[in-house]
Amino acid sequence: MIETDIGVTKKQNGSDEALTDEICAYFDEGNQPAVFFVQIDCVDAAGHGYGSDSEEYYSAIHEADGYVGRIYDAAVRNGLMEDGLFIVTADHGHKIEGGHGRFSMRESLTTIAAVGKTVVPGGTLDRLTRDRDIAAITLFALGVEKPAVMSARLPGNLFENTAGEARSFVKDPLDAVISAFMWIVTLCTPQR
Ligand SMILES: [Zn+2]
Repeated sequence: MIETDIGVTKKQNGSDEALTDEICAYFDEGNQPAVFFVQIDCVDAAGHGYGSDSEEYYSAIHEADGYVGRIYDAAVRNGLMEDGLFIVTADHGHKIEGGHGRFSMRESLTTIAAVGKTVVPGGTLDRLTRDRDIAAITLFALGVEKPAVMSARLPGNLFENTAGEARSFVKDPLDAVISAFMWIVTLCTPQR
């Protein structure tokens, strides 16, 4: 789903470490991408294979933290953070027993962390924030008007002097239903 004819540089590497090396070199060569995305795979692989309470999972988080730190440092030393927004998130959470693809809060809750010139230091995103809102956040940061049909919203408490957008039931009636369903499933699922 990547439009390659609009000046996209695309790289793939089976090793997160080698990919991180390539990214740091790409920044150090003076490249200044308007939008940059990387997926580091080791945490996801460990979560699926060993579950979220395993040594492998925690060690993968530690490993990924190192890669993210290196990429962030490369962005800083090349001036990209002077006017840049750096967001770290995960596509989903994990169950203690591993595996994939249900509705429990353990699987659907993720962390979203952001840093940038106008990001509120130490702020906490409002409770309505969803992973998909990163699309709205990114468009806002780039100064691009959000398409009217987009259900992603700008969360409150993210940018200084910027109010969050209200959640739209009209644009996304399923969201409220699914959220309620997920809470019920979670309440009915034994958690440690
Ligand atoms: Zn996964």
